[in-house]
Amino acid sequence: MPSAVIVGAGVFGGSIALRLVSSGWDVTIVEQYPPGHVRAASGGESRLIRFSHGAADWYTRSAWRALELWKELERESGAELFVPSGVAWFMRSSEGWSAEAERVLKEQSIPVERLEPEEGARLFPSFDGQGLDSILFEPEAGVLRARDATRVLSEQAIERGARFVSGTAAPEGDTVLVNGERLEADRVVWAGGAWLARLFPGLVPLRVTKQDVYFFGAPAGWQAPSVPGWVDFEGGVYGLGELDGRGFKASPDSVGPEFDPDSEDRVASKEKEQQARDYLALRFPALAGAPLVGTRSCPYSLTPDTNFLIAPHPEHEHVWLMGGGSGHGFKHGPALAEYVERLLAGKEPPDPAFALGDRPPGGGLRAPWIEQ
Ligand SMILES: Cc1cc2nc3c(=O)[nH]c(=O)nc-3n(C[C@H](O)[C@H](O)[C@H](O)COP(=O)(O)OP(=O)(O)OC[C@H]3O[C@@H](n4cnc5c(N)ncnc54)[C@H](O)[C@@H]3O)c2cc1C
Repeated sequence: MPSAVIVGAGVFGGSIALRLVSSGWDVTIVEQYPPGHVRAASGGESRLIRFSHGAADWYTRSAWRALELWKELERESGAELFVPSGVAWFMRSSEGWSAEAERVLKEQSIPVERLEPEEGARLFPSFDGQGLDSILFEPEAGVLRARDATRVLSEQAIERGARFVSGTAAPEGDTVLVNGERLEADRVVWAGGAWLARLFPGLVPLRVTKQDVYFFGAPAGWQAPSVPGWVDFEGGVYGLGELDGRGFKASPDSVGPEFDPDSEDRVASKEKEQQARDYLALRFPALAGAPLVGTRSCPYSLTPDTNFLIAPHPEHEHVWLMGGGSGHGFKHGPALAEYVERLLAGKEPPDPAFALGDRPPGGGLRAPWIEQ
């Protein structure tokens, strides 16, 4: 039986652990905090799952496959993880990214509708389409209960036989040191999220930033799933309907300040709060002046081009580094795990798009790159 040690039980590590143990691997998970903890990127309450990725058809296919696997996990665990709200893209142009996204969705037979800006009024209780060319609506997309899903991934992996070790791991050659124990396995996967760069200094080109999320009190009628998730692509703002009583989410998606995920306070920026408020007033007039009912701060692990990082260690071929979710990784978790299993088993060569080392700066897999 092949063996693996997975360090990090965020959505990436948890998905890989569950996948491998389900395929008969002997799996050990090492995690420094409880799975689903709030310091991790995967510890937010909600994450959008959408299929549009411009021309990047690999990501579209991955997200669509992931939805199938999330639904499978719901059936197996009994947990309600996916909220079928749809996702509406507010587009200032129907060319470029938007046209490519629509083309790829159609090629992959994924439902998509191009709506006039005025038709936003049938998706949201109050809507102003000013400045928009159109709305690209993905009816099969929606929202994942991220924190719950992350916990369920590890729970399911443990139920199927994975060993869970609570502690902070350090790499030593191709082994893992934790709590004074040395763990060895056929494959080691470091899925350390925002902590990955400091575990492998000089090797992992990740920028860790603080991203703030805002929740506003909304009246009845603004709940998911009847209200869709939404993204203003060019404007770099996104959100979703009220879910589980937490308020209507609206967050600027510009890149925040550098951030230490262990030691820094998580106090949301007033400036970005104002940006979120201004956007509500512009696009959802009935929510102008809505009270702020909550905030969250959470790390992005950004690669220079927003492609993920999935690569073997240059000196230890059985050690893999995985991360760089770049603000859009959550949805892909279980589909990425299928892909990573093939890599670990040597059935597929590593993809240069996910390699270590320099990459041309870019963006576009989440939103155009906007500095704060
Ligand atoms: C505000 C915000 C909004 C986002 N919105 C979306 C969205 O709408 N849709 C979407 O798909 N994605 C979204 N993302 C991105 C997504 O959340 C991340 O890409 C994803 O959660 C990354 O998962 P991960 O497993 O790589 O990292 P993490 O979730 O950070 O997990 C890493 C884990 O490794 C553990 N760890 C690290 N080092 C060690 C060590 N030495 N020993 C033991 N354990 C260790 C950590 O404790 C942590 O639990 C968003 C992210 C943020 C911050």
